[in-house]
Order: sequence, then structure tokens, then C-alpha cells
Amino acid sequence: MTIKRRGLADTVAGFLRDWSLPRQLAGQDHRRDAARSTMSEGLRPRLEEADRVGTSICPYCAVGCAQLLYAKNGKLIHVEGDPRSPINQGTLCPKGAATFGLLANPNRLTKVKYRAPYATEWEEKPLAWAMERIAQLAKRTRDETFVHKLPSGDIVNHTLGMASLGGATLDNEENYLIKKVFGGGLGLVWIENQARV
Ligand code: SF4
Repeated sequence: MTIKRRGLADTVAGFLRDWSLPRQLAGQDHRRDAARSTMSEGLRPRLEEADRVGTSICPYCAVGCAQLLYAKNGKLIHVEGDPRSPINQGTLCPKGAATFGLLANPNRLTKVKYRAPYATEWEEKPLAWAMERIAQLAKRTRDETFVHKLPSGDIVNHTLGMASLGGATLDNEENYLIKKVFGGGLGLVWIENQARV
């Protein structure tokens, strides 16, 4: 019987201690003291363990929301919006908020993969090798397909053998440069951006 009484007393004490309603009725602020409980007193900020914080820009679209990246022992533990940014003021859309998953995903490719023509297996290659190969192929294709003059005599100075498809993270300035380098420089006609597709 004593045990039962104590159990009831503990339940009531727990109710008065942890439930917000009685304390709100007693006049405590529901956003501050009345919101505290035994459980919430034991909660710690999830970023408390971080020993380093860096800044970045969300990679997903041209809005360019600023991010704070928290790390512990050199490993990323959290990504959130940077409140100092006039663009996103600490917020991130669901895509940007999922950046942590993009970086921490064990399936993320971090090395160049190359599959030679007719090969069935992928090979790992150095980044410098890949950049050189892309440059060589772009130059070769451009030289092989460049048209100076049409049969009608019209001067066009273009190539229809290559195209450029940009991503949504490209900003105005980058798209300007792409148009200048690929269009004016290489002679590409087909220059498109994911944002318009
Ligand atoms: S994807 Fe979302 S969070 Fe990322 S830059 Fe665009 S609007 Fe901002």
C-alpha cells in the first residue's frame, strides 16, 4: 500500500515537474520555464560536439544559399543555413538541408571514373588526366567539325559537333563566361542551361 501511495505521489510530482500545462496555469511562460522538463534539461545542442565550423555555398541551385558546415575530428557532422547571409538568412530549402547526405553518402564518387570505348569496366584515373583528355577531345572535335562558310557563302564560324548543358548552380557571371568561351571562342551554337530545360 505504501509503495502504491509512493507511486501515485511520484506520478503527481512528475506531472507537476514535467508537464507544461500546470506550470502554464501557474503563470509560467509557455515559451520558457513552462516548456522545460526533466528530459529537456538533459538535452544538449547537437552542434556542441563540433570542434570546427566552416562556410560554404549550397551546391544545388543558383540561389546560392550560404551554409555553415560543422565538423568533429575532421569529419562533417552537420550542415545548416548561415544566418549572416542576406540571401537565405539562416534558412535552407529541403534540398539544401540535405547537403549533409550528399557529402556523407558512402556511395559518393570521389575519384574520376573512366570507361574506355567498348570497355565493360570502369577504371580510376587522376583528375589531371581527365581534364587533359576532355581538353584534347574538345579541341579535336571542334577542329574536325568547325564550319567557316556555308555552301551559300554565308560566313558562320561555328561547330554543330558539340553542345554545352550547364547546371542550375551556374550563376549569371559563369553563364556569361560560358557563352563567351564556348560560343565566341569555340563556335558552339547549342548552349543550354538546366534551369531552362
Ligand atoms: S537548393 Fe535550396 S538551399 Fe540550395 S541554394 Fe537553392 S534554394 Fe538555397
